[in-house]
Amino acid sequence: MSATTVSPEILNTYEMVIGLEVHAQLLTKTKAFCGDSTTFGAEPNTNTSPLTLGHPGTLPVLNREMVEFTIRMGLATNSSIRPVSMFARKHYFYPDLPKGYQISQYDDPICYDGHVVIEYENSVKETIMKRIGITRIHLEEDAGKSIHDLDLERLVDLNRAGVPLIEIVSEPDIRSEKEAVAYLTQIRQTLLYLGICDGNMEEGSLRCDVNISVRKKGAEKYGTRAEVKNMNSFRNVEKAIIHEFQRQVAIVEAGGTVIQQPRMWEAGEGVTRPLRSKERAHDYRYFPEPDLPPVHVDQAWIDRVRATLPELALARKQRFIAEFGLPMYDAAILTVERDVAQYFEDCCMALTERTKERFKLVSNWLMTEVLRILSEKKISIAEFGVAPQAIAELVELFASDVINSKVAKEIFPDVIAGKSPKAIVDERGLAQVSDTGFIVEIVDRILTENQGEVDKYKGGRKNVFGFFVGKTLAATKGKANPKVVTQILQERLDA
Ligand code: ADP
Ligand code: MG
Repeated sequence: MSATTVSPEILNTYEMVIGLEVHAQLLTKTKAFCGDSTTFGAEPNTNTSPLTLGHPGTLPVLNREMVEFTIRMGLATNSSIRPVSMFARKHYFYPDLPKGYQISQYDDPICYDGHVVIEYENSVKETIMKRIGITRIHLEEDAGKSIHDLDLERLVDLNRAGVPLIEIVSEPDIRSEKEAVAYLTQIRQTLLYLGICDGNMEEGSLRCDVNISVRKKGAEKYGTRAEVKNMNSFRNVEKAIIHEFQRQVAIVEAGGTVIQQPRMWEAGEGVTRPLRSKERAHDYRYFPEPDLPPVHVDQAWIDRVRATLPELALARKQRFIAEFGLPMYDAAILTVERDVAQYFEDCCMALTERTKERFKLVSNWLMTEVLRILSEKKISIAEFGVAPQAIAELVELFASDVINSKVAKEIFPDVIAGKSPKAIVDERGLAQVSDTGFIVEIVDRILTENQGEVDKYKGGRKNVFGFFVGKTLAATKGKANPKVVTQILQERLDA
């Protein structure tokens, strides 16, 4: 059934109901149930031992680090941690799964009953905070990768087989594509802050299944959901949701029923399609994994993990607003990555005069200069290599009018190259001139040389003022203090 278009008025009488299942690859050094390496990008089929290959007679051994990472995520999402949880076998037959089953958790996942608070701006720019329930977080192992873009050959790379995953299942609390993206952003950020997943969607370390149904606004009963599998970018999640909403409303409006089925997103065409029935005729025949004992997590372990949790993004953002006086916009950008947030704090701590005005200047400098360079060079703040002290020194040079921000920008490449801002300013004689007598001389010369412009200004063309400021600054090679220049020009011209 293809989606015919539905008018916006009709769409507006429906609401969407969304629940997300997020799969996150854990950054453990070794696989979930054996010692094979998990490094991404290794030669195909080199991170494989008889265990990964599912040879008969091999036995799984539980990776403690993976359990610890899952407890971290559980605590960060306000979940309860189950003292005793079990593994189960989920059976299906596919070339990327040599054992013929995936070790997962079924009845008693390790984390349950959690929630996160998302924050986003609605269409009228109000900040909305909303609680989204987390039904469960369970542990499982990933399958290998089959590569079928060659005509007749089908290849399989088992490096990924057995890499630990957590699946984070949300309650159907999400009501719009905006909320879905805010939720995913929050989950991804939490994983990154905890240092348990690299969050790289292109490489598949973070994948998401979108469950979506529609119902008439005001209705209580949920509609039948479709499940769009394996989304690998936020942008696609957003588009797939908008498309599915329209498709399902069209079906319901035409008197049909939505079928519960897995679908896939065709990014090129911008539509979802049912997965071929062969790919979804699953009877997983779950049963308890006999080769692994139950996982015991005692209170002492939970307490130890809790004590090592970092401050998470939302809390840090709120603290940046309260403690450093940053606008919400700045605080949000500076807390996207934990290392950037830390860098900002380190710069602020390195200031000799710690005032809100200077914190804001640091924020401006990071947002406009530093983050731009990071994205241009595609490097992380750790690879940036400029000491926070150097940023603080630079900011203080223009905060105290020793240089103006134009000069600050000019010398920044040298600061990145490792020179101290103060040393550069001294060596190159860049300190700006606030000496009134010197500036007055230059201003007077410029006014005499440009009598025509002066007449225009006096005749009411006030925007000529900028021309004089520009000329004066140029005549001092950018070194004159713009505030002093402006003041003197005003005295001369408006007299
Ligand atoms: P399964 O394991 O078959 O995918 P689950 O019961 O675990 O089924 O649900 C998976 C996801 O579907 C959860 O995120 C849940 O919130 C969501 N979900 C359940 N019912 C609906 C519904 N009617 N509409 C939208 N999402 C739903
Ligand atoms: Mg599902």
